[in-house]
Amino acid sequence: MTTFIGSCDQMKIIEYTASTALGKSGMKELNYTLNPYSGCFHGCVYCFAINMTGKKDAAENWGEVVYVKTNLIELLRKEIIGKKRGMVGISSITDPYQAAESKYRITRNAAEILLRNGFRVTVQTKSPLVARDIDVFSRYRTTCDVGITITTMDRDVALTIEPHAPSPESRAGALRKLADEHVKIWIFAGPIIRGINDSQDSIEKIFNIASSTGARIIYDTYAPYGGASALMHKTVNKEGHPNTYYTDKAWAAGIRNIFEKFSSRYSVRVNTEGEEWLAEYQTDFRTF
Ligand code: SF4
Repeated sequence: MTTFIGSCDQMKIIEYTASTALGKSGMKELNYTLNPYSGCFHGCVYCFAINMTGKKDAAENWGEVVYVKTNLIELLRKEIIGKKRGMVGISSITDPYQAAESKYRITRNAAEILLRNGFRVTVQTKSPLVARDIDVFSRYRTTCDVGITITTMDRDVALTIEPHAPSPESRAGALRKLADEHVKIWIFAGPIIRGINDSQDSIEKIFNIASSTGARIIYDTYAPYGGASALMHKTVNKEGHPNTYYTDKAWAAGIRNIFEKFSSRYSVRVNTEGEEWLAEYQTDFRTF
């Protein structure tokens, strides 16, 4: 069942009933995924989820339409009975702490149910709203971790590539709050986009936050996706940046060098997105 709830300015929320809560994960470090929302109000121009949302209007009006799975908690309570315990990624597609979560609280309730029932949870978001749920994460410190995406600390660049996402400063603030409560935290520094957020100065500012909060860093470089490529073209060119956001091996090697240099200078652990699953198994950061 689908119900149109309302819209504000350019934003539209549609409630619907989903058929499953836990999904299968294609990522080696996850056993399950859980996505309370389809579509994302943050509207990042590089978002791969544009092609994965499964909702035509959300994909075509990226950042303006969000579908809410209102029955997700009810489904989850049934699905976890007898289910093999494992790591659940919240979310694997769209941001679990986008603005709709302040009203619906599906992410919070789902994380709490999973952790209370012996599942492990890893959260990734761009929103400081995640700090609202510090009480849950700090209660299950050994079985959960929280990642916050910071692609740049430059507000203007952030506004260009992540137009409706909370400011980078507010995300850094949430990291500090989580760190103060000894919640395991990490920064996703990605995507690094050629000519946009790939300068040493820009990357070093992310290391400053990691160093001061004790977060490790996972980073990735931009890879073109269908819908994202179209939005990148439109936005990046409109803002006057050169059309050089594509990647090549020499540029990617240069980015790796920068991350390795700062990793050593700031004593911050760094993994690429591709190495991440291996690192999870080789360290005690998560105890599978
Ligand atoms: S916050 Fe994540 S899911 Fe949302 S638009 Fe940005 S990249 Fe996509």
